[in-house]
Amino acid sequence: MVRDHLIKATAAGGRIRAVAIRTTDLAEEARRRHDLSPTAAAALGKAMTGALLLSATLRKSGRLNVRIGGKGPLGGLLIDAGTDGSVRGYCGNPQLDLPLRADGLLNVGAAVGRDGFLSVTYDLGRRPYTGTVALVSGELGDDFTAYLAHSEQIPSAVSLGIFVENGRVCSAGGILVQLMPDAGDEIAERLEQTVLTMPTFTALDRERVGLVQILERALAGFKVDILQEDQDVYFACRCDHKRVLDAIRILGPEEIQDMIAKDGQAEVRCHFCNTLYQIDRSQLEAMLNL
Ligand code: ZN
Repeated sequence: MVRDHLIKATAAGGRIRAVAIRTTDLAEEARRRHDLSPTAAAALGKAMTGALLLSATLRKSGRLNVRIGGKGPLGGLLIDAGTDGSVRGYCGNPQLDLPLRADGLLNVGAAVGRDGFLSVTYDLGRRPYTGTVALVSGELGDDFTAYLAHSEQIPSAVSLGIFVENGRVCSAGGILVQLMPDAGDEIAERLEQTVLTMPTFTALDRERVGLVQILERALAGFKVDILQEDQDVYFACRCDHKRVLDAIRILGPEEIQDMIAKDGQAEVRCHFCNTLYQIDRSQLEAMLNL
């Protein structure tokens, strides 16, 4: 059975680096957890895929948050991805659905909106730092490409694909190709031609072409070294009952008294995974007695 995973490669003697990722199952899990419309599922699935591709380029282990703030009707997107392959995320308007584009694709660009920003905050053990770029198209592949080019100064191409059929995510994933500083113009031009003429990730994935072959197609004409590392990627949230109790405790005794008086309980929904936590009266009262 095909599973969600990512693979890495180098080509042209290390002057090109590439990552390919399949995210169908995790994008479908996000769709199901948040009850996403097809348009919202496509936007969130692409954003989670882009965030995992970025985290695959990190040399240190840690996490990154991608915040996408377009002025489109979808509202913002927030993704949290780790170098361990875990990812979670949500968007402002999960039920938003738009008509398909003229070419039959889901209209992620119009949902996210062109006017806005993409920012990435890295937490790699030291002080977190953030890079931000203006959105290029809201289609997200272009926007992650612009982020890497402007904020990280690495010429890159990010291609993201997602296919939703009968309301379910049937295919999702993408490719990231980066040119190292010593690559030179000739390699850049050859690579650009290959990337421009190859079939889309979605077309290849739906024909059950594996990630290794997809990377070999993207890097056709170069000597490709597929790295050993083959990493699982998956949807996972870090919320649990104890964290929810801690969050309520921070509100302070007055607020907790208020909850007990008004509702006799508390309900907290995790934004990232949509899990509903119910905190009963006795647990709230126990916080007051500490
Ligand atoms: Zn959660």
